[in-house]
Amino acid sequence: MPKIADIIVLVVKLGIAGLIGFWFYLDARGRDYAWMFWTFVPIILVITAPVVGVVAMIVLVIVYFMMRPQGTMAKCPHCNKKIIDNLFMCPFCQKNAKKECLVCHEPVPWEAEQCPHCKSRAITKS
Ligand SMILES: [Zn+2]
Ligand SMILES: [Zn+2]
Repeated sequence: MPKIADIIVLVVKLGIAGLIGFWFYLDARGRDYAWMFWTFVPIILVITAPVVGVVAMIVLVIVYFMMRPQGTMAKCPHCNKKIIDNLFMCPFCQKNAKKECLVCHEPVPWEAEQCPHCKSRAITKS
């Protein structure tokens, strides 16, 4: 029979893994980056490698920071979740996070009235 202390340690580790997984989910999905993989890796790691789990988790976070798509984060104009600035469509709510210039077809920030590339005012409304 497993000791109570062992169970508590496992629960705590699972809790930490869950939190990291949840944060990976929000961040990776907002960057449109393999979020299904990153969400479950911390939990799988704790279950399959309980002893090295915590160290592996720290390494995992560092690896994630190095591998994730870099860029500034902006808020989706519809669902307010943080998404990476260069995405046309919000990965959370699937709505357009940018408008499109009808003249040069470049993405235009949602709140802009005018294309920042060619100064045209002909931009999509949604
Ligand atoms: Zn959204
Ligand atoms: Zn333009």
